[in-house]
Amino acid sequence: MDRVYLTFDDGPDPQWTPRILDVLATAGVPATFFVIGSAARKEPALVRRAAAEGHEIANHTFGHRHPWFIGTTQARRQVSEGAQAIEDVLGRAPRFYRSPHGRHRACMAEEARVRGETTVMWNLSAIDWGFMGRADRIATRLQRVRPGDIVLMHDGRNRHNRPDQLIQVLPGFLQELKRRQLTASLLPS
Ligand SMILES: [Zn+2]
Repeated sequence: MDRVYLTFDDGPDPQWTPRILDVLATAGVPATFFVIGSAARKEPALVRRAAAEGHEIANHTFGHRHPWFIGTTQARRQVSEGAQAIEDVLGRAPRFYRSPHGRHRACMAEEARVRGETTVMWNLSAIDWGFMGRADRIATRLQRVRPGDIVLMHDGRNRHNRPDQLIQVLPGFLQELKRRQLTASLLPS
């Protein structure tokens, strides 16, 4: 079976996360949500809903600070407090970590690793943000999906993300996956 892995970053967002969960539920596909810890603390019911509907909740740090512009202690704390927020809401620790802004930092990856979290990046980005984040362009990029791809999308606004544009093309993308017999799956642990 050919699999793909859908990931949504920067939520939970009170406006957009419920709508994306609705689309996923209609299509019957699971995804991994890399949540921001501070947002998870503000919207715990949304995190619980996503988990209850079969989605994976993963660590995207507490405050989405840029990894290169904070001190080592703060960098490690961003990872540990992001994980703690998820554990407080769900009663279990996250199993996956993704660094903010796609920027690697060794001490943060190490903090995640010692906590038992596997670092997961992506290899296909919807680029659903900024001036590139128009629905038609997002759709074109998503059409390039191939077996094994980890797909980056955003349910949280976090300044310049465009979930309003993504939501317009997400149902069509999920139908396209089915047509091509690509099975959206949870990340292997
Ligand atoms: Zn992010």
